[in-house]
Amino acid sequence: MEKRISGHTGLMALFGSPVGHSGSPAMYNFSFQHDGLDYAYLAFDVNVEQMPKVFETIRLLKMRGGNFTMPCKNIAAKLVDKLSPAAEIIGACNTFVNDDGVITGHITDGVGFVKNLEVNGVDVKGKKTIVLGAGGAATAIQVQLALDGAKEVHIFNVKDEFFERAEGTKAKLAEKCPECVVTVEDLEDQEKLKETVANCDIVINATTMGMKPHDDVTLIDKSWYRKDLVVADTVYNPEKTKMILEAEEAGCKAIGGKGMLLQQGAVNYELFVGKKMPLEEYQKFQA
Ligand code: NAD
Repeated sequence: MEKRISGHTGLMALFGSPVGHSGSPAMYNFSFQHDGLDYAYLAFDVNVEQMPKVFETIRLLKMRGGNFTMPCKNIAAKLVDKLSPAAEIIGACNTFVNDDGVITGHITDGVGFVKNLEVNGVDVKGKKTIVLGAGGAATAIQVQLALDGAKEVHIFNVKDEFFERAEGTKAKLAEKCPECVVTVEDLEDQEKLKETVANCDIVINATTMGMKPHDDVTLIDKSWYRKDLVVADTVYNPEKTKMILEAEEAGCKAIGGKGMLLQQGAVNYELFVGKKMPLEEYQKFQA
């Protein structure tokens, strides 16, 4: 590292709070070093009120790019110069790229998720999908599925504070992606869920259920699985959730959340430096 940092080294960073647990600095710095790119990536703990100053700093230091995490994703979308189509629909961004002073905000959770399906041989175009959840990850996935040509997106959520957000996503997608059928249902309506699973191609869990300490929970009854169903989870801790294990057992194509995490990093890296991230090498390095 000492040899790598010079008077020319460009800064990239993650902004939000907390950021101390983030794996992003390790992943991007490994990749810069691997690719011989003169950048360093750090993480800064900042709050929403400090974000205007963060943007002054990004401009002043001519930072090429970086990321925003909670609670700064929504305010970031208001402070960038331009937004990607998905970030505009959602009103939040987790990634920025600075092209000679013009800062574009992107939201890459959904892109990473769809990319991970693609890597696993699943094309979302023309597909009927179910997304369980209406929080940050779920919304990004729902919007990206619609932008990438899914035929149907059926959102199921419990009647909590996120339910209204699902209704909002449905309304925005009706305007921006009118060819995609979007419905919102109460997750408690098990008959409706069963019937929708029977008629769809891909079921996605984007809730916190299945994640530790809820790792004994799955929201889909295993008797509903069939071999031609794709089952995908956003949860990556544990790497194989109860939902994924049961789907595998039933012979479905089952895709866990870790790939989404890695693909999202790779999508960001390509936005920052225009190159494929050395993903395999990073995974070997981590192992
Ligand atoms: P969030 O807090 O924004 O949303 C939480 C969602 O879970 C809401 O839809 C809520 O209604 C639902 N939920 C909560 N308790 C529930 C219950 N008892 N039954 C049914 N639904 C319930 O969270 P988020 O940031 O969107 O994260 C959601 C999941 O996505 C997490 O498990 C997270 O690990 C995962 N995630 C994965 C990646 C990745 O790269 N793989 C990235 C982001 C998030």
